[in-house]
Amino acid sequence: MVEDDLRERVARFVTAEVMPCEPVLDAGGPAAAAALGGLRDRARAEGLWALPLPRELGGGGLPLRAYAALAEAEGASDHGPAALGSAPLLDVTMLSRHTGPRVRAEHLRDLVAGRTRSCFAMTEPDVPGTDPTLTATRAERLAGGGWLVTGRKWFTSGAADAGLVTVLARTGGAPGDRAGLSLLLVPTRSPGFRVVRELPVFGASGQYEIALDRVEVPGDQLLGEPGAALAVVGERLQLGRVLRCLRWLGQAQRAFDLLCHRAATRAGSQGPLGDHQLVQQHVFDALLALRTTRPLVHEAVALIDAGRDARTEVGLAKVAAARMLQRVTDSAIQIHGAAGLGPDTPLPALFRTGRAARVLDGPDELHITSVARRVLRGYGTGAAGPG
Ligand SMILES: Cc1cc2nc3c(=O)[nH]c(=O)nc-3n(C[C@H](O)[C@H](O)[C@H](O)COP(=O)(O)OP(=O)(O)OC[C@H]3O[C@@H](n4cnc5c(N)ncnc54)[C@H](O)[C@@H]3O)c2cc1C
Repeated sequence: MVEDDLRERVARFVTAEVMPCEPVLDAGGPAAAAALGGLRDRARAEGLWALPLPRELGGGGLPLRAYAALAEAEGASDHGPAALGSAPLLDVTMLSRHTGPRVRAEHLRDLVAGRTRSCFAMTEPDVPGTDPTLTATRAERLAGGGWLVTGRKWFTSGAADAGLVTVLARTGGAPGDRAGLSLLLVPTRSPGFRVVRELPVFGASGQYEIALDRVEVPGDQLLGEPGAALAVVGERLQLGRVLRCLRWLGQAQRAFDLLCHRAATRAGSQGPLGDHQLVQQHVFDALLALRTTRPLVHEAVALIDAGRDARTEVGLAKVAAARMLQRVTDSAIQIHGAAGLGPDTPLPALFRTGRAARVLDGPDELHITSVARRVLRGYGTGAAGPG
């Protein structure tokens, strides 16, 4: 099948080209930028560039469900989506749906081609990211219809290399109101925009604190309707979460393969490590976690693809995939002993992703309580169950 062939080619590219560059890419800076540029050129040359992005914008035109089949292979390295040009899928989808013709014409092709990069700034240092109604960044309306944005955001992934940042700001109402929040597309070259500092996560680069000091934004760079950002944010997070889950499956599979290889090939005086039942327990539990999470993730993808309500399924998939990645990478490290903590395997980086996964895009607790409440509502209204 064409899709199997494409998945094989993506898997080969990520294994042979992207994975060897991971230490350089993780370190950030000019060497990382040069390595990423080289990978992108090779991905383009091999016809693997921007596979899930719309064909009319220069992408490969794969629908979400077809892309889901190869997103695991692409995401087996955290750098796979950036190297293969699918990283802008979320922003291109949001801007296509929620901006007007001028903004779309100005930015979408550049985003798909990789000439412009984008990032998303919602979380702030001084208010809980889990409660966006408390967002302190504000945008004031200008007489000509534009906006003046002022505030501070942090853990904005990729902000230092981005040409565009979508910022959540209060344009009306009061702290705590669900209405009155808006998303604004801010070019990072705008006067008043500043990267304040890098925020390494367990030593890895890629996260930044940014400041906006009366940054002027044209009126048509507001996404959707003024004051109605939370619906757009919800839509974005649903797609974003399942894309991450697919990539985490790929990374967990990679850790699982390392675990099994180590257990089967490293031998003590009584035989391979894998002969110990306690090591077999790690193999079983890791495989069980992987195999039970994969269908949850694909169920959520199928619902989103069909345009149906996927909030419960995305919540289940996100918590399951984050826990699973942390668990599988932890087992793989354990079976490697000290080598699993050192610099010779990707396990520390995979574990780092697994740990961060339980916080980013909403921490576990948020998904657990919102899924449970939604399920219980189905029982409290006289219905037989949530359906
Ligand atoms: C690697 C990484 C990349 C990120 N990238 C981005 C990005 O690109 N853009 C962006 O905007 N943000 C980004 N974030 C931020 C991330 O989305 C937030 O950290 C997350 O949503 C949690 O917000 P917070 O850190 O403010 O935690 P808080 O809201 O302060 O919550 C802290 C803790 O309190 C507990 N808690 C919170 N709410 C509840 C609840 N309802 N019930 C029970 N317990 C609760 C949880 O244990 C939670 O972890 C990133 C974070 C990381 C680590």
